[in-house]
Amino acid sequence: PLTVNARARAIKPSATLSISARAGELRAEGRKVFNFSAGQPDFAPPAAIAKAVTERFADAPVGYAPVPGIPGLREAVARELSEYHGTSYDKAQVIVSCGAKHSLANLFLVTLEAGDEVVIPTPYWVSYPEMVGLGGGTPKIVSCPRSQGFKLLPEQLAEAVGPKTKFLVLNSPSNPAGVMYSEAELRALGQVLAERAPQAWILADDIYRKLVYVDSGHASVVRACKGIPNIEDQIVLVDGVSKSHAMTGWRIGFLIAPLPVAKAVTAVQGQSTSGASTPAQWAALTALTEPSSVAAVADMREIFRERRAAMIEGLRAAGAELVEPEGAFYVFPDFSKFIGEGERFADDFELARVLLDDKGLATVPGTAFGAPGHLRLSFACSLEDIREGTRLLGEVLAG
Ligand code: PLP
Repeated sequence: PLTVNARARAIKPSATLSISARAGELRAEGRKVFNFSAGQPDFAPPAAIAKAVTERFADAPVGYAPVPGIPGLREAVARELSEYHGTSYDKAQVIVSCGAKHSLANLFLVTLEAGDEVVIPTPYWVSYPEMVGLGGGTPKIVSCPRSQGFKLLPEQLAEAVGPKTKFLVLNSPSNPAGVMYSEAELRALGQVLAERAPQAWILADDIYRKLVYVDSGHASVVRACKGIPNIEDQIVLVDGVSKSHAMTGWRIGFLIAPLPVAKAVTAVQGQSTSGASTPAQWAALTALTEPSSVAAVADMREIFRERRAAMIEGLRAAGAELVEPEGAFYVFPDFSKFIGEGERFADDFELARVLLDDKGLATVPGTAFGAPGHLRLSFACSLEDIREGTRLLGEVLAG
């Protein structure tokens, strides 16, 4: 038989799959399913994007894109992120890939050596530990409970790092909790790295940075770490259009890294995927530069803002305990008082199953994000569903 190697065997199957499969079955039976498990916006992308792409189809064959990305897109990304982070990136440092997920996987693949550690605070996006493992490194998971706002504290970082630390992963706003680090919090973490692990790099996954609902706004880790020796120059950025422009299926993401790393990512892509899809890169360029597409992000943000408020209100009324999300489109309520020995539900998987089977509420168990006792609910769904769904959740919790 053709056997699967140890690297592949070590990958955990997605914990969300059984929930989506069950949700699909219920839908097929004609039952109403409240989709609180979506990891993507439910909008159409800005209209100018499809228009720009279809116009170009008429002009010429759709050929291979350059492996690191089309020049216009790399330039646009370098320009936008230089301005945003108050620094100066060269377009040669920008590599376009098939989604931010691909950028992250490539980065780990070209930088991690056996034994390298990557600090990942909980609750984390499900793919980080698996990608680190695939890249040959070791995830160093640090537990950041609700009591500390689901954020890594400097003293925890000091404890977690050492000479083997290669990266600290920061995802702000986060999937699954929607929490954000302030500039002061980011600086404090950068200072710990400078003192305790000056060889370490920060990996900032900024995929949700344009979806922020609080007046304080998103803090740039690059600005926050200005002037901190070593660390100020040891930051890799991952960003993209998937979430901000409702373009998940177009599969475009990018990273900004030091030149040798950018070149290594290009080499890997050159021998595996080649460049990302050419029309999708035209689309991403339109998303980032065409004025109505840029403005459309603000419109989507306003819709999410309203849904977020309804979600928080509904969950509170249902009896859930939560940290208010400041960005992204998720909330990560704590149900631990309903879970465990002598309680109504054995674990978060059972709670999720009961919510789905009894009320049609599709959620994702917190265990998948390294935080048992919680559920992730997405508010990338209609206001009516949020209101009715949280009411039904309240019925289940009330017994
Ligand atoms: N990073 C985080 C935190 C995410 O939540 C996601 C998508 O779920 C990604 C990266 C991947 O984004 P993309 O769809 O561009 O690959």
